[in-house]
Amino acid sequence: IKVGKVQGRVNGFVGGMRQIRPTFVSSRFYDVLTFAAIAVGNTPLIRLNRLSDETGCEIFGKAEFMNPGGSVKDRAALYVVKDAEEKGLIKPGGTVVEGTAGNTGIGLAHVCRSKGYKCVIYMPNTQSQGKIDLLRLLGAEVFPVPAVAFENPENYNHQAKRHAEKLENAVWTNQFDNTANRRAHIETTGPELWAQAGGVLDAFTCSTGTGGTLAGITRYLKEVSDGRTECWLADPPGSVLYSYIQSGGKLSERSGSSITEGIGQGRVTDNLKQEINLITDALHIPDEETIHMVYRLLDEEGLYMGASSALNVVAAYELAKKIGPGKTVATILCDGAYRYADRLFSKKWLREKGLDTAIPAHLERYAVL
Ligand code: PMP
Repeated sequence: IKVGKVQGRVNGFVGGMRQIRPTFVSSRFYDVLTFAAIAVGNTPLIRLNRLSDETGCEIFGKAEFMNPGGSVKDRAALYVVKDAEEKGLIKPGGTVVEGTAGNTGIGLAHVCRSKGYKCVIYMPNTQSQGKIDLLRLLGAEVFPVPAVAFENPENYNHQAKRHAEKLENAVWTNQFDNTANRRAHIETTGPELWAQAGGVLDAFTCSTGTGGTLAGITRYLKEVSDGRTECWLADPPGSVLYSYIQSGGKLSERSGSSITEGIGQGRVTDNLKQEINLITDALHIPDEETIHMVYRLLDEEGLYMGASSALNVVAAYELAKKIGPGKTVATILCDGAYRYADRLFSKKWLREKGLDTAIPAHLERYAVL
């Protein structure tokens, strides 16, 4: 790569290398962005070596933990704000309001600071003080409210909506049903993944919270591969989507629970609606396997991953065993373990959840907290 005036992006790197990004300001500089929010995306694709060697497949993880806010949700955050700008719903100096328990809020807080908007976050008061502190540190105004069900008008999502309605020049970004979220993945994550895999991808799998990541990537991959790439949903306990897909579209009551944060869903969101019929099939991943994979990824790959990333990798591994060998399978590494270390690496916490036995003896040395 020469220093100089570069236009467009160079795709196709597999490995730990950042791609050239599309915005450049002068011929004296390259890879210079005009504002921080554009640093979202163009994440590397990482080969998961041990799991690939074991299955005879190429298993890749898209390193979404490398986004500025540390998660895949930065992409949705940037797109819902851009969408509000394009629709004239927000003008300079305006306020972005969202109901979120985690990564979307962190992504929005970053994007809002970068673009000069105020950011207001409503979240259930069961969330850790650490998350609240981080959001405030990023300049967001945070309202922890009682953790009541979605049907209750005092639920954090409804409070966020009402807050935005009361303000001038403010928007409720509504990540669950605002399809600008899905569009982020149709226009960015999907094309990046396909190009990085060299245009060969037999299967893709990931879990859902809002469903934006799975639906957007599925939509793009199905189109670009002429329907050949299999796209599988990976679901934790307590989510209804696995049984929804397995039963051919019957929505059941939520039952059970999971230690995975940010994923699992009780309904088919607007972000999922159009693509749910494109989904090949679903995998149910128990928490024991997710926890085991958190430790394996650390030990074998040097990847310090949160539970949703680990669940996704378990699903990719299962899929590789189903369709391999010789095939290529990709998934999403949603975020790192930093925000969850006091749980995932605490023997006491794991014991309380009945998950301490999920860690084999040779990996126990990582449970140090
Ligand atoms: N993993 C983590 C850690 C998340 O915070 C989220 C979003 N809540 C997801 C996965 C799921 O992403 P999406 O909302 O695009 O389905």
